Amino acid sequence: MATIGLAGLHPGERTSGCSQEGMPRPSGSLELLISSQVQECLQQFKVTRTQLQQIQASLLCSMEQALKGQDSPAPSVRMLPTYVRSTPHGTERGDFLVLELGATGASLRVLWVTLTGTKERSVEPRSREFLIPQEVILGAGQQLFDFAACCLSEFLDAYPVENQGLKLGFNFSFPCHQTGLDRSTLISWTKGFRCSGVEGQDVVQLLRDAIERQGTYRIDVVAMVNDTVGTMMGCELGTRPCEIGLIVDTGTNACYMEEARHVAALDEDRGRTCVSIEWGSFYDEEALGPVLTTFDYALDHESLTPGAQRFEKMIGGLYLGELVRLVLVHLSQHGLLFGGCASPALLSQGSILLEHVAEMEDPTTGTARVLTVLRDLGLSPQASDAELVQCVCAAVCTRAAQLCAAALAAVLSRLQHSRQQQTLHMAVATGGRVFERHPRFLGILKETVMLLAPKCDISFIPSVDGGGRGVAMVTAVAARLAADRRILEETLAPFQLTLEQLAVVQAQMREAMIRGLQGEASSLRMLPTYVRATPDGSERGDFLALDLGGTNFRVLLVRVTEGSVRITNQVYSIPECIAQGSGQKLFDHIVDCIVDFQKRQGLSGQSLPLGFTFSFPCKQLGLDQGILLNWTKGFNASGCEGQDVVYLLREAIRRRQAVELNVVAIVNDTVGTMMSCGYDDPRCEMGLIVGTGTNACYMEELQNVASVPGDVGHMCINMEWGAFGDDGSLGMLSTCFDASVDQASINPGKQRFEKMISGMYLGEIVRHILLHLTNLGVLFRGQKTQCLQTRDIFKTKFLSEIESDSLALRQVRAILEDLGLTLTSDDALIVLEVCQAVSRRAAQLCGAGVAAVVEKIRENRGLQELTVSVGVDGTLYKLHPHFSRLVSATVGKLAPQCAVTFLQSEDGSGKGAALVTAVACRLTQMAHV
Ligand code: ADP
Ligand code: MG
Repeated sequence: MATIGLAGLHPGERTSGCSQEGMPRPSGSLELLISSQVQECLQQFKVTRTQLQQIQASLLCSMEQALKGQDSPAPSVRMLPTYVRSTPHGTERGDFLVLELGATGASLRVLWVTLTGTKERSVEPRSREFLIPQEVILGAGQQLFDFAACCLSEFLDAYPVENQGLKLGFNFSFPCHQTGLDRSTLISWTKGFRCSGVEGQDVVQLLRDAIERQGTYRIDVVAMVNDTVGTMMGCELGTRPCEIGLIVDTGTNACYMEEARHVAALDEDRGRTCVSIEWGSFYDEEALGPVLTTFDYALDHESLTPGAQRFEKMIGGLYLGELVRLVLVHLSQHGLLFGGCASPALLSQGSILLEHVAEMEDPTTGTARVLTVLRDLGLSPQASDAELVQCVCAAVCTRAAQLCAAALAAVLSRLQHSRQQQTLHMAVATGGRVFERHPRFLGILKETVMLLAPKCDISFIPSVDGGGRGVAMVTAVAARLAADRRILEETLAPFQLTLEQLAVVQAQMREAMIRGLQGEASSLRMLPTYVRATPDGSERGDFLALDLGGTNFRVLLVRVTEGSVRITNQVYSIPECIAQGSGQKLFDHIVDCIVDFQKRQGLSGQSLPLGFTFSFPCKQLGLDQGILLNWTKGFNASGCEGQDVVYLLREAIRRRQAVELNVVAIVNDTVGTMMSCGYDDPRCEMGLIVGTGTNACYMEELQNVASVPGDVGHMCINMEWGAFGDDGSLGMLSTCFDASVDQASINPGKQRFEKMISGMYLGEIVRHILLHLTNLGVLFRGQKTQCLQTRDIFKTKFLSEIESDSLALRQVRAILEDLGLTLTSDDALIVLEVCQAVSRRAAQLCGAGVAAVVEKIRENRGLQELTVSVGVDGTLYKLHPHFSRLVSATVGKLAPQCAVTFLQSEDGSGKGAALVTAVACRLTQMAHV
């Protein structure tokens, strides 16, 4: 039994070698027809599943080597970047010119393609072919391009087009070295062209020059596109993304969308780029050697390029007819066909074409047609010859389709791996005469791909219009990307602050600090905290601390011993009815929690010094005296505003007579942060918070603090810097997005600096920008979703995740898809850039503030150089991947005379409050001494 076709892949399924769908034969006749000698001959074309898998693996390996730019061992495929960065959205619209040179022999084609932006309405492209005179083909290069420019003009003259900025895609089908979407150097002429002075030149530039010389139309040559890419890009948008283009024409090649960072030849590390594999040259002795037949060797030997393009020579349409011819010659020479007589036509190279093979295999025409074709070759076939010739054709073409499938499977496994998808859903755009003419090629290809890449869900979509539409599409996409980029850059430009702008912010901050300290009108309140010293490391003892104002209420026991600070804490909830009930109830509840904590810790009866971190705006009159200005963050207990918080706490202790507590200090969280870092680093003289909100404190000369008497020593000042700019001084930097965020907030016009910096707002700023870009059609294909209109849907932690590492783009997609947004890889890139712009500005503004503070400390002390540390707390600062680095870099530039170290505080509210208390106790003791 002859086993050709898919034998080895489908054991037992195909019993008769030539059986083809729709081609019924009387059973058993084949065995009679095909002698063992014939079987032996055709057996050579059989490729087993294992062999196909080896080819798949070897090609994949070669692709990966070429991507890495490895040159030894030299990979046999080239993996050329095409600079096409995006596939169509389906919304591309406009009129585009396409110029095809080299695709159709000695002629040149001009197309006018209208993209309508919808599937529903399509406009047939108009085209015209111009024959290139022989003297031009062999003449000077300039002449050829002048001829092309002339054809363009002539073509356009026939249409009432406006003479401005027509966009042109250039399909130039000769081997080129492309270095940009619109930059491509001709390596060498092929296909009979031999114009002088073009090899080694940028053909796009030559075309542009010629169009300019011609002078009639203003045509913008946007893109240079090879036919594989054109095929992929011209594919009608379906349910699966179409990111592979496959051509089997004269030769064969494929392209696909690769992650740019995997392409060593590109500097880009973001987004995707279309790579032309150039797989026709694939060769690997171990994988391909065993499937080469004597006919392949003969074909290669007689070809113009022996040794080259071995893979293509088994698949491409230029070679299928020739392989069939060589087999027929062999069989006739052995007396197995045509009564042993070959005709002169059969014996001459190239006499059997792809068209002949396709026709003879066409199930609809039957054997009569086969006999006609054979007779046209001057042969005298017998009836039985027809079937045998069909078997030869089937053997050659089946192998071609299977090899092509193995190569395609390699691309699919590459995509599946790099996208980490369980099932790869993908459409493959197919183009070329083999697909168009050969009745079974696509069927076998599909079947084999399913076997070799079982986890892929693939559809095949034939390209329309031989890629002309695709070239227009590349041009359209490039034009769209360029326009989108312009809009994106315009949108983000106000977020890109120059060093000069930041220096202005620094100077304004400095002035506002001075006015605030002097008690003049200022957006900075510069509140004295009555903390007069940072820790000196000699503090010892056990302290209690309270932390009210964060997410939880906590009671802490802080044991400060030599060399260590040990903290035990207990979290207590504050029910809403208490947070918003009477002040008395709230403070009773707090004391109950302290009593409970003391019991648990075996501290009952002891009167430990207590520090109270109270993270609400307070006007302090002493270390242990703070008037609550107003509640925030969901607290609204009655009878507290305008009252001294420590007094309220002491009253509650008095009501609960069982306990004795010694409330020493009320502490702002910035101060706690500074103090907790100050215990380990005596140079820590500034505290910074960048969490839900932002604020800072630092050690000021007492003599500069107008509201506190005394000229000697220092005092920590709570700047309340979130309110910086509330007098309008930040107006210059404020964007329309900041205005939107401010308008929608519970405190419009307030906390303007904070609203450009802190965690509560950054996500919102990003969301407003994304909405704007969507409205302009730059994002999400212009589709507005409910989701993006929802306030606070875009969390600030997303900025951290999105900006985190090199896998960012996949992460962006996952995050936004969780929000119900579907996005392309372009969208992901844009969202990333938006996040970066917003978080960068936040960090830089924060840095300008820090610079103002450290410079003031330096000048206060009359120092040339200041070495200082800043204690920092806040989840945004701590978890964002670049925030802290950017703050530090900005400070470095704006305050070059200060050496600033940033220290992240651990539990600033607990440890800090205890240390404020400890320092106060130390200072009191010293005063007593
Ligand atoms: P608070 O300032 O209320 O004391 P945090 O310092 O923990 O609390 O800051 C909380 C804020 O940090 C949240 O409002 C959120 O916006 C922001 N945030 C949370 N997680 C992240 C993250 N991974 N990256 C950046 N910001 C975050
Ligand atoms: Mg906090």
